[in-house]
Amino acid sequence: MELDYFKKKLKEEKERLEVELSQVAKRNPKNPSDWEPIPAEDGTDTRIPDANELSDAFEEFQNRSSVEVHLEEKVNEVIAALKRIEKGTFGICAACGEKIDEKRLEANPSSATCVKHSPR
Ligand SMILES: [Zn+2]
Repeated sequence: MELDYFKKKLKEEKERLEVELSQVAKRNPKNPSDWEPIPAEDGTDTRIPDANELSDAFEEFQNRSSVEVHLEEKVNEVIAALKRIEKGTFGICAACGEKIDEKRLEANPSSATCVKHSPR
């Protein structure tokens, strides 16, 4: 198993996700693995918005929030996989302890389980 190869892939993935996250969220200063969605306007617009604009902004904020939750989940999976590399448990199914198929890891290096125990 090419651990260095997967480590590099995971690090690249983590950086990519963090760039995406930083566009919709800011890191919680008290907890670096937690991200909070930021409002779309971000204080640049000082006019008082009308009701339509407010509901648009709210919808936009909700969209960004769901994107944020998804990205945060992904980035935490990647971080967990990097930790498994450090601990030497990378590529081992968290449910049954069998080796995870390398093709599966190639497709998604942050997989924590074998195909049989995949939650998805
Ligand atoms: Zn398994």
